[in-house]
Amino acid sequence: MPYDSNNIFAKILRGEIPCDKVYENSYVLAFKDIMPKAPVHVLVIPKSSYISFDDFSTHATNEEIGEFFRAVGEIARDLKVEQDGYRLIANHHHFAGQEVDHFHVHILGGKPLGPMLIS
Ligand code: 5GP
Repeated sequence: MPYDSNNIFAKILRGEIPCDKVYENSYVLAFKDIMPKAPVHVLVIPKSSYISFDDFSTHATNEEIGEFFRAVGEIARDLKVEQDGYRLIANHHHFAGQEVDHFHVHILGGKPLGPMLIS
């Protein structure tokens, strides 16, 4: 499946759709999820075009991967969730329920998050 440059996060990156930005550097953009599942719910996306974690972990450079995850940790600290704890989620493809086909990591926190999976 090729990368679809019309996905919603690609449009956010191009500035065609607004977002509530919390962080940006030359590798990543982070913004609040439009339908938050916790008091803190931020999405972190790479600026380069990767469909999902599988694509990112296969094709991104070591520099991109390092910068991305370094930024995720920095953003979590900026959001002040590292003391009480937070959860990272990266959904890949259908069984995980991935809705937007641009790789992203969810940072969730701000309250006890309960069990990891709810069936
Ligand atoms: P996924 O299920 O693909 O891991 O998560 C996609 C997330 O993107 C969902 O939590 C959804 O609420 C969020 N989302 C979808 N469209 C938009 C949008 O236009 N703006 C923002 N900020 N979040 C969005």
